[in-house]
Amino acid sequence: MTLTTRGAVVQKAGLPRPYSVSRPVAVMELELLPPQRGEVLVEVEAAGLCHSDLALVEGVRRPPLPIVLGHECAGRVVEVGENVASPRKGERVVLSFAQSCGECVYCLSGRPTICDAGRAANYEGKLVTGGTRFRLNGREVHHHLGVSAFSEYIVVPSSSAIPVPFDLPVEKLALFGCAIPTAFGAVMNVAHVNLGSSVAVFGCGGLGLNLIQASKIVGATQIIAVDIIENKLERALKLGATDVVDASKKDPVAEVKKLTEGRGADYCFEATGDTRVMTQAFLATRKGGTTVILGVTSSEDRVELPSWLIMGEERRVLGSYMGSIVPRRDIPVILNLFSQGRIRLEEVITGEIRLDELNEALDRLAEGVAVRQIVRMK
Ligand SMILES: [Zn+2]
Ligand SMILES: [Zn+2]
Repeated sequence: MTLTTRGAVVQKAGLPRPYSVSRPVAVMELELLPPQRGEVLVEVEAAGLCHSDLALVEGVRRPPLPIVLGHECAGRVVEVGENVASPRKGERVVLSFAQSCGECVYCLSGRPTICDAGRAANYEGKLVTGGTRFRLNGREVHHHLGVSAFSEYIVVPSSSAIPVPFDLPVEKLALFGCAIPTAFGAVMNVAHVNLGSSVAVFGCGGLGLNLIQASKIVGATQIIAVDIIENKLERALKLGATDVVDASKKDPVAEVKKLTEGRGADYCFEATGDTRVMTQAFLATRKGGTTVILGVTSSEDRVELPSWLIMGEERRVLGSYMGSIVPRRDIPVILNLFSQGRIRLEEVITGEIRLDELNEALDRLAEGVAVRQIVRMK
């Protein structure tokens, strides 16, 4: 049965700020077609507003429009299509924005975040199971990363809906769709941060603050937080940073080196999407160390790296999309850490909003005065 849902639609990107005036996001009544083979219908309970959503609104990322915004959420399965073994009707789920087919060479080698068909579907604003399910007056409206979190109801591939095995507060669960798996995956699966190592995190937003928590859990003994906003550095200290560098006042490369006996950090994580910061993170890594690039840029952006330092100093530069996780394997592991009280989110979640307050929330995110703002659907 076709359903009606209120969803946050972006029809045009690149409008001027403030968004509270230009209003790029409009909440509209949409039609939602029923789940097809391999899909589920989810009632969204809570969704987080991420920098990647802002990058879409700014026109830095350019999926087809109109599109229903959002990619980080948790909800409950209300209907399942044919041929779905999991999740089951009634189960609470966290949504993965890395769509995957389960059959390509990447999926089969444990790299579903770079799945061929999933990537193609995400670029086209479609579901990996084929086509779109949102309609506005009979016209197609696209899915954002196969999720479109800012809608009361969504249809998603069953492979994107990860069952939550614990009873946890739903407003916090939204973050297990993007910020937390990206951060924990980058630390545990990509960089393999070792006990006793030094880490520098460039950018202390939703991603950076969780990189700090993950580094602490795996036993990094020195965690240097770098940002240009004092309030974010204070949050970083509360979550386990041992040192902070205000990059608006001091050269972050020189400061990280000074704090690491002149060597540079063993691991540097870039979490800003600014290519100049990517260069800084690389230069602040020690010889033989690892730099992980996580920020979202446009496809035209280029990053400048001194080539001699890559070969001559045996530095590794790694990229990671969604923490290179296998969602069904890794999200339950991270949820288990949370259920044990080892992940704290009170410093990461800075406010709750309604669906029709997204334009104002985008302004706060762009200005750096908010970290994660959560939309509660009810
Ligand atoms: Zn995100
Ligand atoms: Zn695949």
